[in-house]
Amino acid sequence: MTPPVRIIAIDGPAGAGKSTVARAVADRLEMDYLDTGAMYRAVAFAAMRRGIDPADAEPVALMTRDLQLEVAEKVTVDGVDATIEIRSPEVTRAASAVATNPKVRTELVRRQREWAAAHGGGVIEGRDIGTVVFPSADLKIFLTAADAERASRRSKEMLELHYDEVAADLARRDRTDTTRDTSPLAVADDAIQLDTTGLGIDKVVESVVALAEAATRA
Ligand code: C5P
Repeated sequence: MTPPVRIIAIDGPAGAGKSTVARAVADRLEMDYLDTGAMYRAVAFAAMRRGIDPADAEPVALMTRDLQLEVAEKVTVDGVDATIEIRSPEVTRAASAVATNPKVRTELVRRQREWAAAHGGGVIEGRDIGTVVFPSADLKIFLTAADAERASRRSKEMLELHYDEVAADLARRDRTDTTRDTSPLAVADDAIQLDTTGLGIDKVVESVVALAEAATRA
């Protein structure tokens, strides 16, 4: 099957269902999938591993330029499998700090565009995909969900944390992501917003696939 569209951008806050939806849509449309959040997490992981403060802009930017990074089923950082470690609460916190670093963003955006060119497009999820990385994506989806539902989804993934900690962490990340100077989390003018509160994953995937098919015919 020929993929109906080249680039599908899926943006939104943490816990809105981006990863699950993006993976399933990519599968259905036989497109490749890129998790750009994993790239910011990998940079944070690498900084921590090298003893660099994730908030220390220059050293983190310098390190990012030379970082050997592979994001696919597994996430490999400088040859080390970091698939599990990048999901820890510490790395999660550090990722939102490195994501405020303009030079880190420039480098990762360059790699994201390179990835898309090499893969003939794909389903790409993040915070700034429709606004900055691929402003002319064929389809832009912005997923949202009620705060309590996002926190409850995340606490099922992070069993080591209490619901209250997860909710506070999400609120803090939302604040950092939406208020940073460079590429804040925002809805692109031409994005279609889908509220996933109370919706089963299948329904959301169906909607996005239908929108992708409609975008092809348009
Ligand atoms: O999506 P995920 O929660 O894995 O992303 C981790 C962090 O990376 C986010 O909190 C956000 O600060 C940052 N991020 C970003 N831009 C992207 C993807 C993720 O700033 N495109």
